[in-house]
Amino acid sequence: MIVVMKSGTPAEEIERVSQELYHWNLIPEKCIGQHKTVIGLIGETAIIDPGQIQELSPWIEQVLRVENPFKRASLEFRHGQPSEVLVETPNGVVAFGQNHPIVQVAGPCSVESEEMIVETARALKAAGAKFLRGGAYKPRTSPYAFQGHGEKALGWLLKAREVTGLGIVTEVMDTADLEKVAQVADIIQIGARNMQNFSLLKRVGAIDKPVLLKRGMSATIQDWLMAAEYILAAGNPNVILCERGIRTFDQKYTRNTLDLAAIPVLRSLTHLPIMVDPSHGTGKVEYVPAMVMAAIATGADSLMIEVHPNPAKALSDGPQSLTLEGFEQLMQEMAPLGKFFGRWTQTPVTASQNFAQTRDRSLVAGVSHR
Ligand code: PEP
Ligand code: MN
Repeated sequence: MIVVMKSGTPAEEIERVSQELYHWNLIPEKCIGQHKTVIGLIGETAIIDPGQIQELSPWIEQVLRVENPFKRASLEFRHGQPSEVLVETPNGVVAFGQNHPIVQVAGPCSVESEEMIVETARALKAAGAKFLRGGAYKPRTSPYAFQGHGEKALGWLLKAREVTGLGIVTEVMDTADLEKVAQVADIIQIGARNMQNFSLLKRVGAIDKPVLLKRGMSATIQDWLMAAEYILAAGNPNVILCERGIRTFDQKYTRNTLDLAAIPVLRSLTHLPIMVDPSHGTGKVEYVPAMVMAAIATGADSLMIEVHPNPAKALSDGPQSLTLEGFEQLMQEMAPLGKFFGRWTQTPVTASQNFAQTRDRSLVAGVSHR
């Protein structure tokens, strides 16, 4: 249930109404908008008559029920106002959300060595990325596959952060590692395979680090929003949703099916910022640029792109990773579209920019130069 206060309601009145609501065994959560304040109510609202709440104050404009099972994640809970997730990095605060430029998060699937991650981070920063992604703990289908360098890799990520000032996005797979991961990560990633690991969700909900929640590969949009609700309900409001492709019947030509329709659907259901990961979404580097363009056109707030200095030698996900040069070129290619939608900031000019501009400018570039 939400209580919409009239515009111009004095702050003391909002406070008085909030205090009253505690007496109803409800937890009020204020969302102060540009014009109006909305109070979201958590608790047994099903048994409450909205009319009785309305009588609490003449400053109450409306009392509405939130019909969806996800409450804090719902768009109604903030009366249609998009939320923003602000992340502090050494280079400054980066904002994720609908009213901000698109944020690029890029890096290798796995952190393979200090040298490799620092080299990658330098190139990404020069190309305009704001965050470095890289896995220290890797969820792999086979127990015999490379599992990530663990704690050592966390140290290497920290080094890359120090050198470049980029924010760090890295995955936590186990509650036992959360403290260590949280010391390094500016954004903690919950991977597709753990989207419904409810104990992990509750634990990341109990800390104040922003959380990137990837969509489970067989999760419905409602499952996904309910998973986000776990984090929000545990007290952490800083959740970013990441569409990374779902399982469909075609496994031959693509690894997953990137559900781009999920972006406008989420927009109609939730206030949370949306990220798109075209790398896992397709599994093939040649399709990444087209999906990046499509993600921008459908309104993604940020992109997560796998990039590796030598994809052929990558310890995981090489086939879907761009080279450093490929990423830089893609940044140049996506800029006009980002600008068209009014969601771009100037990217730094790098030495190879002129070179990139003389190449094929088609939106969906071929792979030969990647
Ligand atoms: C990853 O980001 O490298 C990863 C393992 O992603 P997902 O959980 O989406 O498969
Ligand atoms: Mn990967």
